[in-house]
Amino acid sequence: MLDNIRIVLVGTTHSGNIGSAARAMKVMGLKNMVLVAPECQVDGQAIALAAGASDIANNARIVDTVEQAVADCGLVIGTSARNRSLEWPMLDSREAGVKAVEEAASHPVAFVFGRERTGLTNDELQACHFHVAIPANPEYSSLNLAMAVQTLCYESRMAWLDSQAYKGEVKEQPYPLAEDLERFYSHLEDVLNETGFINKAHPGMVMTKLRRLFNRARPESQELNILRGVLSSVEKLSKENKK
Ligand code: SAH
Repeated sequence: MLDNIRIVLVGTTHSGNIGSAARAMKVMGLKNMVLVAPECQVDGQAIALAAGASDIANNARIVDTVEQAVADCGLVIGTSARNRSLEWPMLDSREAGVKAVEEAASHPVAFVFGRERTGLTNDELQACHFHVAIPANPEYSSLNLAMAVQTLCYESRMAWLDSQAYKGEVKEQPYPLAEDLERFYSHLEDVLNETGFINKAHPGMVMTKLRRLFNRARPESQELNILRGVLSSVEKLSKENKK
């Protein structure tokens, strides 16, 4: 179950943090690490700090974008030390551990961590279903990256241990994968451009707000298919009207 929870580190600059994050994961029983456009190597410093978890750092998959890192995940949780201007469905770290473990029974789950200095970009945060903030001291709430990884791996382990006590019903959660949602968003954007609802010269925040709406609603696969069907029917009508 914990194998299905992936730790995604975006644009990490200190290799020691990759090593410490690997160690943080392994002690809690996680092993799947993905590095998005790292700004450092998995070097001697990383391996030294990983200690007995060097296998996790050495086996980390390296990709260019968050989208690639989470394409096959059904639940994507982005981490942030502070509240951004755009409100998003929020979880605290305990709730995030419980949710991750519940859903890891049916599909891969990703926790996405940001750069040491600047965190995640708004676009990266908008690729997430939920944001999680570790409820730290409001006057100084930014944890070291590897310690934030430790906290969420620990919460996932505690939730998993709890779930072992109540083994039995595994709920089916037929949610679409992140890549299916991305295809839906680009279809939606195409149609809204086509109908003129979005002004191509001044697109504004429409797509961002619609993404927030659908991320909050978390459509199931069947519901997403209905929405895709609705878009296709609008496309068809608009093509006929242009004939
Ligand atoms: N100045 C950055 C802080 C980056 S800290 C910012 O404001 O976003 C590096 C990373 O550690 C963050 O991107 C996040 O992934 C994680 N992190 C640090 N503190 C956290 C907290 N309180 N809750 C959740 N994640 C946290």
